[in-house]
Amino acid sequence: MNEALRWTATAEGAAAPHEADRDATAGAGAANPPVRACILVVDDNADMRECLTRVLSPSFDVTVAEDRQAALDLVNAERSFELVLTDVMMPRLGGFGLLRALREDPRTRPMPVLLLSARAGEEASVEGLEAGADDHLIKPFAARELIARTRSALELARMRNEVAARRALELHLQQAIQARDEFLSIASHELRTPLTPLRLQVGALAQQADAVAKDASASAWLHKRLDKVRRNTERLTRLVDELLELSRVVSGRIPITLEDVDLAAVVRVVVRHFEDIGAVAESGSDVRVHLPGPVEGRWDALRLEQVVANLLSNALKYGTATPIDISLESDGRLASLIISDGGIGIPEDAHERIFERFERAAAARHYGGFGVGLYVARRILEQLGGTIRVKSAPGAGATFTATLPVAGPSPAGCAGESETVSGLH
Ligand code: ADP
Repeated sequence: MNEALRWTATAEGAAAPHEADRDATAGAGAANPPVRACILVVDDNADMRECLTRVLSPSFDVTVAEDRQAALDLVNAERSFELVLTDVMMPRLGGFGLLRALREDPRTRPMPVLLLSARAGEEASVEGLEAGADDHLIKPFAARELIARTRSALELARMRNEVAARRALELHLQQAIQARDEFLSIASHELRTPLTPLRLQVGALAQQADAVAKDASASAWLHKRLDKVRRNTERLTRLVDELLELSRVVSGRIPITLEDVDLAAVVRVVVRHFEDIGAVAESGSDVRVHLPGPVEGRWDALRLEQVVANLLSNALKYGTATPIDISLESDGRLASLIISDGGIGIPEDAHERIFERFERAAAARHYGGFGVGLYVARRILEQLGGTIRVKSAPGAGATFTATLPVAGPSPAGCAGESETVSGLH
Protein backbone atom coordinates (compact mmCIF):
# COMPACT_ATOMS: atom_id res chain seq x y z
CA MET A 1 0.00 0.00 0.00
CA ASN A 2 1.47 3.39 -0.91
CA GLU A 3 1.70 6.31 1.56
CA ALA A 4 -1.27 8.29 0.29
CA LEU A 5 -3.55 5.30 0.59
CA ARG A 6 -2.27 4.71 4.11
CA TRP A 7 -3.09 8.17 5.42
CA THR A 8 -6.48 8.37 3.84
CA ALA A 9 -7.44 4.86 4.78
CA THR A 10 -6.50 5.16 8.45
CA ALA A 11 -8.64 8.20 9.02
CA GLU A 12 -11.75 7.61 10.99
CA GLY A 13 -14.52 8.68 8.67
CA ALA A 14 -11.99 9.82 6.13
CA ALA A 15 -12.43 9.05 2.50
CA ALA A 16 -10.31 6.52 0.69
CA PRO A 17 -8.79 7.90 -2.52
CA HIS A 18 -11.51 6.49 -4.77
CA GLU A 19 -14.21 7.90 -2.46
CA ALA A 20 -12.39 11.20 -2.40
CA ASP A 21 -12.66 11.36 -6.16
CA ARG A 22 -16.40 10.81 -5.96
CA ASP A 23 -16.81 13.49 -3.24
CA ALA A 24 -14.85 16.03 -5.10
CA THR A 25 -16.58 15.37 -8.39
CA ALA A 26 -20.02 15.53 -6.78
CA GLY A 27 -19.15 18.84 -5.07
CA ALA A 28 -17.68 20.23 -8.22
CA GLY A 29 -20.92 20.12 -10.19
CA ALA A 30 -23.03 22.42 -8.06
CA ALA A 31 -20.72 24.68 -6.08
CA ASN A 32 -17.74 25.04 -8.38
CA PRO A 33 -16.54 28.63 -8.53
CA PRO A 34 -17.20 30.11 -11.96
CA VAL A 35 -13.48 30.36 -12.72
CA ARG A 36 -11.34 27.45 -11.58
CA ALA A 37 -8.65 28.66 -9.24
CA CYS A 38 -5.05 27.67 -9.98
CA ILE A 39 -3.47 26.08 -6.95
CA LEU A 40 0.02 24.81 -6.31
CA VAL A 41 0.43 21.58 -4.36
CA VAL A 42 3.86 21.05 -2.80
CA ASP A 43 4.85 17.69 -1.36
CA ASP A 44 8.06 15.67 -1.50
CA ASN A 45 6.15 12.40 -1.53
CA ALA A 46 5.14 11.30 -5.03
CA ASP A 47 2.15 9.24 -3.88
CA MET A 48 0.86 12.13 -1.84
CA ARG A 49 1.23 14.53 -4.76
CA GLU A 50 -0.70 12.15 -6.97
CA CYS A 51 -3.38 11.60 -4.36
CA LEU A 52 -3.86 15.32 -3.65
CA THR A 53 -4.00 16.02 -7.37
CA ARG A 54 -6.73 13.43 -7.82
CA VAL A 55 -8.75 14.86 -4.93
CA LEU A 56 -8.39 18.49 -5.91
CA SER A 57 -8.30 18.54 -9.70
CA PRO A 58 -12.06 18.10 -10.23
CA SER A 59 -12.49 21.44 -8.47
CA PHE A 60 -9.25 23.34 -9.14
CA ASP A 61 -6.45 23.63 -11.68
CA VAL A 62 -3.68 21.81 -9.86
CA THR A 63 0.07 22.14 -10.44
CA VAL A 64 2.50 20.11 -8.35
CA ALA A 65 6.02 20.75 -7.04
CA GLU A 66 8.24 18.36 -5.14
CA ASP A 67 10.12 20.79 -2.92
CA ARG A 68 10.37 24.36 -1.75
CA GLN A 69 12.72 25.52 -4.50
CA ALA A 70 10.66 23.97 -7.30
CA ALA A 71 7.58 25.62 -5.79
CA LEU A 72 9.23 29.05 -5.62
CA ASP A 73 10.52 28.69 -9.19
CA LEU A 74 7.00 27.94 -10.40
CA VAL A 75 5.47 30.77 -8.41
CA ASN A 76 8.05 33.24 -9.73
CA ALA A 77 7.73 32.01 -13.28
CA GLU A 78 3.93 31.89 -13.50
CA ARG A 79 2.65 34.20 -10.78
CA SER A 80 -0.88 33.09 -11.47
CA PHE A 81 -1.39 30.75 -8.51
CA GLU A 82 -4.15 31.73 -6.18
CA LEU A 83 -3.28 29.36 -3.36
CA VAL A 84 -0.42 27.13 -2.20
CA LEU A 85 -1.06 23.88 -0.40
CA THR A 86 2.16 22.57 1.10
CA ASP A 87 3.29 19.73 3.28
CA VAL A 88 5.16 20.94 6.34
CA MET A 89 7.55 18.03 6.75
CA MET A 90 9.72 18.32 3.67
CA PRO A 91 13.50 18.16 3.55
CA ARG A 92 15.52 21.38 3.31
CA LEU A 93 13.50 23.94 5.23
CA GLY A 94 10.20 22.25 4.40
CA GLY A 95 6.80 23.88 4.27
CA PHE A 96 7.54 26.55 6.89
CA GLY A 97 10.49 27.73 4.81
CA LEU A 98 8.31 27.98 1.74
CA LEU A 99 5.68 29.85 3.72
CA ARG A 100 8.28 32.31 5.00
CA ALA A 101 9.68 32.89 1.51
CA LEU A 102 6.18 33.56 0.13
CA ARG A 103 5.38 35.97 2.94
CA GLU A 104 8.66 37.85 2.53
CA ASP A 105 8.02 38.67 -1.13
CA PRO A 106 5.46 41.51 -1.46
CA ARG A 107 4.17 39.96 -4.67
CA THR A 108 3.27 36.67 -3.01
CA ARG A 109 2.47 37.99 0.46
CA PRO A 110 -1.32 38.02 -0.01
CA MET A 111 -1.41 34.49 -1.50
CA PRO A 112 -3.24 32.09 0.83
CA VAL A 113 -1.12 29.18 2.08
CA LEU A 114 -2.56 25.99 3.53
CA LEU A 115 -0.26 23.73 5.50
CA LEU A 116 -0.58 19.95 5.64
CA SER A 117 1.10 18.03 8.37
CA ALA A 118 1.12 14.68 10.02
CA ARG A 119 1.72 16.23 13.41
CA ALA A 120 -1.47 16.23 15.32
CA GLY A 121 -2.27 18.58 18.15
CA GLU A 122 -2.95 22.22 18.67
CA GLU A 123 0.71 23.20 18.83
CA ALA A 124 1.44 22.37 15.21
CA SER A 125 -1.60 24.32 14.07
CA VAL A 126 -0.71 27.35 16.16
CA GLU A 127 2.87 27.22 14.87
CA GLY A 128 1.62 27.14 11.28
CA LEU A 129 -0.89 29.93 11.74
CA GLU A 130 1.63 32.06 13.61
CA ALA A 131 4.03 31.64 10.72
CA GLY A 132 1.38 33.27 8.52
CA ALA A 133 -0.50 30.26 7.14
CA ASP A 134 -4.18 30.73 6.36
CA ASP A 135 -5.16 27.27 7.51
CA HIS A 136 -3.60 24.07 8.76
CA LEU A 137 -4.84 20.57 8.07
CA ILE A 138 -3.69 17.59 10.08
CA LYS A 139 -3.40 14.27 8.31
CA PRO A 140 -5.45 12.24 7.98
CA PHE A 141 -8.36 14.32 6.78
CA ALA A 142 -11.33 13.75 4.53
CA ALA A 143 -11.14 14.77 0.90
CA ARG A 144 -14.30 16.81 1.35
CA GLU A 145 -12.73 18.76 4.21
CA LEU A 146 -9.64 19.51 2.14
CA ILE A 147 -11.75 20.85 -0.71
CA ALA A 148 -13.98 22.87 1.60
CA ARG A 149 -11.04 24.45 3.43
CA THR A 150 -9.26 25.20 0.16
CA ARG A 151 -12.41 26.86 -1.14
CA SER A 152 -12.94 28.98 1.95
CA ALA A 153 -9.28 30.08 2.00
CA LEU A 154 -9.64 31.11 -1.64
CA GLU A 155 -12.90 32.89 -0.92
CA LEU A 156 -11.38 34.76 2.03
CA ALA A 157 -8.37 35.76 -0.03
CA ARG A 158 -10.65 37.02 -2.81
CA MET A 159 -12.60 39.09 -0.32
CA ARG A 160 -9.36 40.45 1.16
CA ASN A 161 -8.16 41.38 -2.32
CA GLU A 162 -11.42 43.13 -3.09
CA VAL A 163 -11.27 45.13 0.14
CA ALA A 164 -7.62 46.03 -0.53
CA ALA A 165 -8.44 47.05 -4.11
CA ARG A 166 -11.37 49.19 -2.91
CA ARG A 167 -9.16 50.84 -0.27
CA ALA A 168 -6.46 51.53 -2.85
CA LEU A 169 -9.06 53.06 -5.17
CA GLU A 170 -10.49 55.22 -2.38
CA LEU A 171 -7.01 56.42 -1.47
CA HIS A 172 -6.25 57.13 -5.10
CA LEU A 173 -9.50 59.09 -5.44
CA GLN A 174 -8.82 61.06 -2.27
CA GLN A 175 -5.35 61.94 -3.51
CA ALA A 176 -6.73 62.95 -6.89
CA ILE A 177 -9.36 65.17 -5.27
CA GLN A 178 -6.75 66.74 -3.00
CA ALA A 179 -4.43 67.36 -5.95
CA ARG A 180 -7.30 68.92 -7.91
CA ASP A 181 -8.28 71.20 -5.02
CA GLU A 182 -4.68 72.27 -4.48
CA PHE A 183 -4.33 73.00 -8.18
CA LEU A 184 -7.60 74.93 -8.16
CA SER A 185 -6.42 77.03 -5.26
CA ILE A 186 -3.00 77.81 -6.75
CA ALA A 187 -4.36 78.41 -10.25
CA SER A 188 -7.08 80.79 -9.10
CA HIS A 189 -4.66 82.79 -6.92
CA GLU A 190 -2.20 83.02 -9.79
CA LEU A 191 -4.89 84.02 -12.27
CA ARG A 192 -6.19 86.73 -9.97
CA THR A 193 -2.83 88.42 -9.51
CA PRO A 194 -2.58 90.09 -12.95
CA LEU A 195 -6.28 90.96 -13.00
CA THR A 196 -6.14 93.69 -10.36
CA PRO A 197 -3.51 95.86 -12.18
CA LEU A 198 -5.27 95.15 -15.47
CA ARG A 199 -8.54 96.53 -14.12
CA LEU A 200 -6.75 99.60 -12.71
CA GLN A 201 -4.97 100.27 -16.01
CA VAL A 202 -8.20 100.07 -17.97
CA GLY A 203 -9.80 102.51 -15.54
CA ALA A 204 -6.86 104.92 -15.89
CA LEU A 205 -6.94 104.67 -19.69
CA ALA A 206 -10.69 105.36 -19.74
CA GLN A 207 -10.12 108.50 -17.66
CA GLN A 208 -7.47 109.77 -20.09
CA ALA A 209 -9.30 108.70 -23.24
CA ASP A 210 -10.75 112.17 -23.96
CA ALA A 211 -7.38 113.85 -23.48
CA VAL A 212 -5.48 111.55 -25.83
CA ALA A 213 -8.15 111.35 -28.54
CA LYS A 214 -7.78 113.79 -31.46
CA ASP A 215 -11.49 114.43 -31.85
CA ALA A 216 -14.89 113.38 -30.56
CA SER A 217 -15.19 110.36 -32.84
CA ALA A 218 -11.74 109.07 -31.83
CA SER A 219 -12.75 109.54 -28.21
CA ALA A 220 -15.99 107.60 -28.74
CA TRP A 221 -14.06 104.88 -30.54
CA LEU A 222 -11.59 104.64 -27.64
CA HIS A 223 -14.34 104.58 -25.01
CA LYS A 224 -16.16 101.81 -26.85
CA ARG A 225 -13.05 99.63 -27.00
CA LEU A 226 -12.07 100.34 -23.42
CA ASP A 227 -15.58 99.53 -22.29
CA LYS A 228 -15.31 96.14 -23.96
CA VAL A 229 -11.94 95.48 -22.33
CA ARG A 230 -13.39 96.50 -18.98
CA ARG A 231 -16.46 94.26 -19.35
CA ASN A 232 -14.35 91.27 -20.32
CA THR A 233 -11.90 91.92 -17.51
CA GLU A 234 -14.84 92.01 -15.09
CA ARG A 235 -16.18 88.76 -16.48
CA LEU A 236 -12.78 87.13 -16.14
CA THR A 237 -12.52 88.46 -12.59
CA ARG A 238 -15.90 86.95 -11.71
CA LEU A 239 -14.88 83.57 -13.12
CA VAL A 240 -11.57 83.59 -11.29
CA ASP A 241 -13.29 84.67 -8.07
CA GLU A 242 -15.70 81.77 -8.48
CA LEU A 243 -12.79 79.35 -8.77
CA LEU A 244 -11.03 80.95 -5.84
CA GLU A 245 -14.19 80.70 -3.77
CA LEU A 246 -14.69 77.09 -4.75
CA SER A 247 -11.18 76.18 -3.70
CA ARG A 248 -11.96 77.69 -0.28
CA VAL A 249 -15.38 76.09 0.01
CA VAL A 250 -14.26 72.56 -0.84
CA SER A 251 -11.61 72.65 1.83
CA GLY A 252 -14.18 72.98 4.63
CA ARG A 253 -16.88 75.14 6.09
CA ILE A 254 -17.40 78.61 4.73
CA PRO A 255 -16.30 81.19 7.29
CA ILE A 256 -19.30 83.27 8.29
CA THR A 257 -19.28 86.56 10.18
CA LEU A 258 -22.68 87.25 11.68
CA GLU A 259 -23.80 90.86 11.74
CA ASP A 260 -26.99 92.90 11.36
CA VAL A 261 -27.69 92.94 7.64
CA ASP A 262 -30.33 94.61 5.52
CA LEU A 263 -30.97 92.21 2.66
CA ALA A 264 -32.63 94.96 0.62
CA ALA A 265 -29.40 96.96 0.78
CA VAL A 266 -27.44 93.89 -0.31
CA VAL A 267 -29.71 93.45 -3.33
CA ARG A 268 -29.33 97.13 -4.27
CA VAL A 269 -25.51 96.95 -4.05
CA VAL A 270 -25.38 93.87 -6.27
CA VAL A 271 -27.80 95.19 -8.88
CA ARG A 272 -25.94 98.48 -9.08
CA HIS A 273 -22.67 96.62 -9.49
CA PHE A 274 -24.01 94.57 -12.39
CA GLU A 275 -25.36 97.76 -13.98
CA ASP A 276 -22.03 99.55 -13.47
CA ILE A 277 -19.98 96.85 -15.11
CA GLY A 278 -22.34 96.77 -18.08
CA ALA A 279 -23.56 93.21 -17.48
CA VAL A 280 -27.23 94.25 -17.41
CA ALA A 281 -26.93 96.21 -20.63
CA GLU A 282 -25.04 93.35 -22.26
CA SER A 283 -27.77 90.88 -21.37
CA GLY A 284 -30.49 93.19 -22.68
CA SER A 285 -32.62 92.19 -19.71
CA ASP A 286 -34.85 94.53 -17.80
CA VAL A 287 -33.94 94.07 -14.13
CA ARG A 288 -36.92 95.01 -11.93
CA VAL A 289 -36.36 95.23 -8.21
CA HIS A 290 -39.31 94.99 -5.80
CA LEU A 291 -38.16 95.83 -2.27
CA PRO A 292 -40.69 96.31 0.51
CA GLY A 293 -38.24 98.36 2.64
CA PRO A 294 -35.46 97.05 4.87
CA VAL A 295 -35.41 93.28 5.44
CA GLU A 296 -33.15 92.78 8.39
CA GLY A 297 -31.59 89.71 9.92
CA ARG A 298 -28.47 88.24 11.56
CA TRP A 299 -26.53 87.25 8.48
CA ASP A 300 -23.24 87.84 6.68
CA ALA A 301 -23.47 90.74 4.22
CA LEU A 302 -20.53 89.76 2.00
CA ARG A 303 -21.70 86.16 1.76
CA LEU A 304 -25.21 87.26 0.88
CA GLU A 305 -23.76 89.54 -1.80
CA GLN A 306 -22.17 86.43 -3.26
CA VAL A 307 -25.49 84.57 -3.25
CA VAL A 308 -27.42 87.41 -4.88
CA ALA A 309 -24.61 87.95 -7.40
CA ASN A 310 -24.57 84.28 -8.37
CA LEU A 311 -28.34 84.19 -8.83
CA LEU A 312 -28.46 87.47 -10.73
CA SER A 313 -25.56 86.61 -13.01
CA ASN A 314 -27.31 83.31 -13.85
CA ALA A 315 -30.56 85.14 -14.57
CA LEU A 316 -28.69 87.54 -16.88
CA LYS A 317 -26.86 84.68 -18.56
CA TYR A 318 -29.71 82.17 -18.99
CA GLY A 319 -32.47 84.76 -19.28
CA THR A 320 -30.89 87.05 -21.89
CA ALA A 321 -33.24 89.82 -23.02
CA THR A 322 -36.06 88.68 -20.74
CA PRO A 323 -37.44 90.59 -17.73
CA ILE A 324 -35.73 89.71 -14.46
CA ASP A 325 -37.63 90.27 -11.22
CA ILE A 326 -35.97 90.44 -7.83
CA SER A 327 -38.19 90.62 -4.79
CA LEU A 328 -37.93 90.26 -1.04
CA GLU A 329 -40.49 89.05 1.46
CA SER A 330 -40.39 88.66 5.21
CA ASP A 331 -42.88 87.47 7.81
CA GLY A 332 -40.64 88.57 10.68
CA ARG A 333 -39.34 85.05 11.14
CA LEU A 334 -38.26 84.02 7.66
CA ALA A 335 -37.02 86.24 4.86
CA SER A 336 -37.21 85.16 1.22
CA LEU A 337 -35.29 86.37 -1.77
CA ILE A 338 -36.94 85.55 -5.09
CA ILE A 339 -35.17 85.99 -8.41
CA SER A 340 -36.96 85.01 -11.59
CA ASP A 341 -36.21 85.27 -15.27
CA GLY A 342 -37.99 84.34 -18.49
CA GLY A 343 -35.06 82.43 -19.98
CA ILE A 344 -34.26 78.91 -21.11
CA GLY A 345 -35.48 77.27 -17.89
CA ILE A 346 -34.29 74.02 -16.31
CA PRO A 347 -35.64 70.50 -16.87
CA GLU A 348 -37.33 68.95 -13.83
CA ASP A 349 -34.78 66.15 -13.47
CA ALA A 350 -31.98 68.71 -13.01
CA HIS A 351 -33.65 70.75 -10.25
CA GLU A 352 -31.75 69.01 -7.44
CA ARG A 353 -28.55 68.28 -9.28
CA ILE A 354 -27.70 71.86 -10.31
CA PHE A 355 -26.95 72.70 -6.67
CA GLU A 356 -24.16 70.15 -6.65
CA ARG A 357 -20.56 70.97 -7.48
CA PHE A 358 -19.72 71.11 -11.25
CA GLU A 359 -23.28 70.20 -12.23
CA ARG A 360 -24.73 72.01 -15.21
CA ALA A 361 -27.97 71.65 -17.09
CA ALA A 362 -27.29 73.91 -20.08
CA ALA A 363 -25.23 73.12 -23.18
CA ALA A 364 -21.61 74.03 -22.45
CA ARG A 365 -20.98 75.30 -25.98
CA HIS A 366 -23.74 77.91 -25.62
CA TYR A 367 -23.31 78.97 -22.02
CA GLY A 368 -19.97 79.28 -20.23
CA GLY A 369 -19.50 78.57 -16.53
CA PHE A 370 -18.04 76.07 -14.12
CA GLY A 371 -21.21 74.82 -12.48
CA VAL A 372 -20.16 76.03 -9.04
CA GLY A 373 -22.19 79.22 -8.47
CA LEU A 374 -25.32 77.49 -7.19
CA TYR A 375 -23.25 75.05 -5.13
CA VAL A 376 -21.51 77.92 -3.35
CA ALA A 377 -24.83 79.78 -2.94
CA ARG A 378 -26.47 76.73 -1.37
CA ARG A 379 -23.52 76.14 0.97
CA ILE A 380 -23.61 79.76 2.15
CA LEU A 381 -27.38 79.73 2.66
CA GLU A 382 -27.22 76.43 4.56
CA GLN A 383 -24.60 77.85 6.87
CA LEU A 384 -26.87 80.79 7.55
CA GLY A 385 -29.63 78.32 8.42
CA GLY A 386 -31.44 78.85 5.12
CA THR A 387 -32.43 76.93 2.01
CA ILE A 388 -32.64 77.42 -1.73
CA ARG A 389 -34.95 75.85 -4.29
CA VAL A 390 -35.89 76.34 -7.91
CA LYS A 391 -39.14 76.28 -9.84
CA SER A 392 -38.67 75.99 -13.55
CA ALA A 393 -39.59 74.28 -16.78
CA PRO A 394 -37.68 74.22 -20.08
CA GLY A 395 -38.35 77.39 -22.06
CA ALA A 396 -40.46 78.88 -19.27
CA GLY A 397 -37.79 80.70 -17.24
CA ALA A 398 -36.59 79.93 -13.75
CA THR A 399 -37.50 81.18 -10.27
CA PHE A 400 -34.98 80.72 -7.48
CA THR A 401 -36.19 81.21 -3.92
CA ALA A 402 -33.69 81.54 -1.08
CA THR A 403 -35.11 81.48 2.44
CA LEU A 404 -33.27 82.70 5.53
CA PRO A 405 -34.20 82.71 9.22
CA VAL A 406 -34.19 86.32 10.38
CA ALA A 407 -32.59 85.36 13.70
CA GLY A 408 -29.63 83.81 11.86
CA PRO A 409 -28.47 80.22 12.01
CA SER A 410 -28.92 78.10 15.10
CA PRO A 411 -25.61 78.11 17.06
CA ALA A 412 -24.48 74.76 15.65
CA GLY A 413 -24.89 75.99 12.08
CA CYS A 414 -22.53 78.94 12.34
CA ALA A 415 -18.77 78.86 11.99
CA GLY A 416 -18.38 82.22 13.68
CA GLU A 417 -14.86 82.88 12.39
CA SER A 418 -14.09 85.66 9.99
CA GLU A 419 -11.91 85.65 6.93
CA THR A 420 -11.22 88.06 4.10
CA VAL A 421 -13.70 87.29 1.38
CA SER A 422 -13.57 88.40 -2.20
CA GLY A 423 -16.42 90.91 -2.46
CA LEU A 424 -17.82 92.44 -5.59
CA HIS A 425 -15.34 95.23 -6.04
P1 ADP B 1 -22.85 77.88 -14.09
O1 ADP B 1 -21.51 78.48 -13.91
O2 ADP B 1 -22.83 76.72 -15.03
O3 ADP B 1 -23.91 78.86 -14.39
P2 ADP B 1 -24.27 77.41 -11.58
O4 ADP B 1 -23.89 76.53 -10.45
O5 ADP B 1 -24.50 78.83 -11.29
O6 ADP B 1 -23.14 77.20 -12.66
O7 ADP B 1 -25.57 76.79 -12.24
C1 ADP B 1 -25.64 75.41 -12.49
C2 ADP B 1 -26.53 75.14 -13.70
O8 ADP B 1 -27.88 75.47 -13.38
C3 ADP B 1 -26.20 75.97 -14.90
O9 ADP B 1 -25.16 75.38 -15.68
C4 ADP B 1 -27.53 76.00 -15.65
O10 ADP B 1 -27.68 74.82 -16.40
C5 ADP B 1 -28.54 75.96 -14.53
N1 ADP B 1 -29.07 77.29 -14.19
C6 ADP B 1 -28.72 78.08 -13.15
N2 ADP B 1 -29.45 79.21 -13.14
C7 ADP B 1 -30.28 79.14 -14.19
C8 ADP B 1 -31.30 80.00 -14.74
N3 ADP B 1 -31.60 81.19 -14.17
N4 ADP B 1 -31.95 79.58 -15.84
C9 ADP B 1 -31.66 78.40 -16.41
N5 ADP B 1 -30.72 77.56 -15.96
C10 ADP B 1 -30.04 77.92 -14.87
